[in-house]
Amino acid sequence: MYDVSIIGCGIIGSAIAYELSKYKLSTVIIEKENDVAMGATRANSAIIHAGYDPLPGTLMAKLNVRGNALCKELCEKLAVPYAQIGSLVLAFSDEEVDTLNELYDRGVKNGVPGMKILSYDEAKAIEPNIADNVKAALYAPSAGIVNPWEFALALAETAVRNGTEIMFNSPVESVNKKDGYYEIVCGDKTVTSKYVVNAAGVGALAIRDMVLPHSYDSLPSKGEYYLLDKSEGDRVSHVIFQCPTASGKGVLIAPTVHGNLIVGPNSVSCEEGDTSTSADDLAFVRNSALKSVPSTNFRANIRNFAGVRPNTSSNDYVIDCDDGFFEAAAIKSPGLASAPAIAEYVVDMMKQNGVELIEKDSFIDTRKHVRFKELSHEEREKIVKEDPLFGRVICRCETVTEGEIVEAIKAPITPYTVDGIKRRCGAGLGRCQSGFCGPRVLEILSRELGLPPEKIEKDKTGSYIVKKRRT
Ligand SMILES: Cc1cc2nc3c(=O)[nH]c(=O)nc-3n(C[C@H](O)[C@H](O)[C@H](O)COP(=O)(O)OP(=O)(O)OC[C@H]3O[C@@H](n4cnc5c(N)ncnc54)[C@H](O)[C@@H]3O)c2cc1C
Repeated sequence: MYDVSIIGCGIIGSAIAYELSKYKLSTVIIEKENDVAMGATRANSAIIHAGYDPLPGTLMAKLNVRGNALCKELCEKLAVPYAQIGSLVLAFSDEEVDTLNELYDRGVKNGVPGMKILSYDEAKAIEPNIADNVKAALYAPSAGIVNPWEFALALAETAVRNGTEIMFNSPVESVNKKDGYYEIVCGDKTVTSKYVVNAAGVGALAIRDMVLPHSYDSLPSKGEYYLLDKSEGDRVSHVIFQCPTASGKGVLIAPTVHGNLIVGPNSVSCEEGDTSTSADDLAFVRNSALKSVPSTNFRANIRNFAGVRPNTSSNDYVIDCDDGFFEAAAIKSPGLASAPAIAEYVVDMMKQNGVELIEKDSFIDTRKHVRFKELSHEEREKIVKEDPLFGRVICRCETVTEGEIVEAIKAPITPYTVDGIKRRCGAGLGRCQSGFCGPRVLEILSRELGLPPEKIEKDKTGSYIVKKRRT
């Protein structure tokens, strides 16, 4: 029997696992997909929000601002791409200038550092490509950008190095309270643990309904995006928002940590797993973005994608506990920015509710990630001498070497898919979107894992690439 089972390995399950792995506990993460962060955490705007949006007094407000500071610390410690680039909210009318003042007041109450309301001239001086009809802007220097997927991987990987187990391909079908423990049925496996943490994202309500009376509704909402080529990557140098509306923070434009430009999202009600995009919705995203930055070149688009927000009828995060069943549910935006603070909060709640937490003598709290293209000439020469696989470039668009791919395969959480390598190393993230390197990555996975090519999948379970070999 485990002490704790965490259901869901998105940013929230990973952050809680990381936090719990500091203590002498046996913990298992149960994840229905074949890799970490396959839900909302892999398809979002990747912004570490400053924290002026949530209403003062809510859990969201408190955990966003604390989370913002913790994200910066953790990303540095765990080698996760992150940059504190600051954000601007643009106002185009007098009413919107009033909204900026409201956001500023909220931010002050929430404890957001360093905010300023900028005039048109001041905003234009730091962000020359914004529209000429901008009236004013709210500047928040603590906002940042991150690689959200690698953030979740880094947290989960560190938890694993500290003793946490992960079960992939294990959809939880029932959670039963027994005498002093829980029995969790996931596919053909049964797990028992003293405590359960529900961090199943958009699936969290279904898990809660297995254990507790139904008390709120799930209202998933889709956000669609453009990802533009690196040629557009310096179109803006801050996260550019418009004023928020009832349906959310609106369409933003921001550089990504990989040097691309991300544009989106809209907000459309949808079913739980619907990550489709449509021409009409994308036209809305494009037109909204052009209002902020008219020179954005959408011909440089290399990919469209969508993510599903785990929105619910609750206005705040649902972080609660009942008889050993802990919940971190309804974690909508700014859930990514809040994640490390949510984890601290949940672990503190566990402590208050009788979970014995004894600190480990040795906790591994560092992580290395070699990115060949970021090394100096001397460093490259040295690493190629030590391991010639770093001298073979597999992805030419992103300069990713075979050495990096093999290192990712040998890491504590093994990737089994071509997209798993893309997310870990960046091979396939570039302009050709893995058209050239995809088959070579498949070969390397097949060789290193000792699996035939027809067993290697592209992404989610069942997405096979090679149907059968010619005889
Ligand atoms: C379009 C969009 C834009 C956003 N932009 C931002 C942003 O810029 N900044 C920000 O801070 N936040 C943003 N968010 C919010 C943020 O992405 C989420 O708050 C966060 O990713 C939620 O993490 P999670 O771990 O709760 O959920 P998820 O990442 O969805 O993880 C839940 C995991 O549980 C697993 N699971 C579900 N059901 C089961 C089951 N029955 N058995 C086993 N496993 C199960 C899933 O497979 C999944 O891996 C955005 C969200 C969206 C969709």
